[in-house]
Amino acid sequence: MFCPKCGSILVPKPDKKGKNLLSCSCGYKKKDVEEIKIKEQTKESAQIEVVEEKELLPLIDAECPKCHHTKAYHWIVQTRASDEAPTRFYKCEKCKHTWREYK
Ligand SMILES: [Zn+2]
Ligand SMILES: [Zn+2]
Repeated sequence: MFCPKCGSILVPKPDKKGKNLLSCSCGYKKKDVEEIKIKEQTKESAQIEVVEEKELLPLIDAECPKCHHTKAYHWIVQTRASDEAPTRFYKCEKCKHTWREYK
């Protein structure tokens, strides 16, 4: 969490009532800590769902031509013409760039 006023990292500090408050050296205090936590959890679970969906595809060693990440999801599409080789598709794990390879 960062201070919306000055951009510094907020430090959790218990107040007089024992509640955890995020406060900043500039005097800014964030009071709705619990509300933020709930929002973050919702966001996380949504991300997990997306990942699970993509895990149906095998993750293999392939270098992304865009960001040079070395892991990509991989699948093969067989074209209708039987004399043609299947097309290999890759999707970068990191930047989601999709590319194909003919062999
Ligand atoms: Zn501040
Ligand atoms: Zn990439």
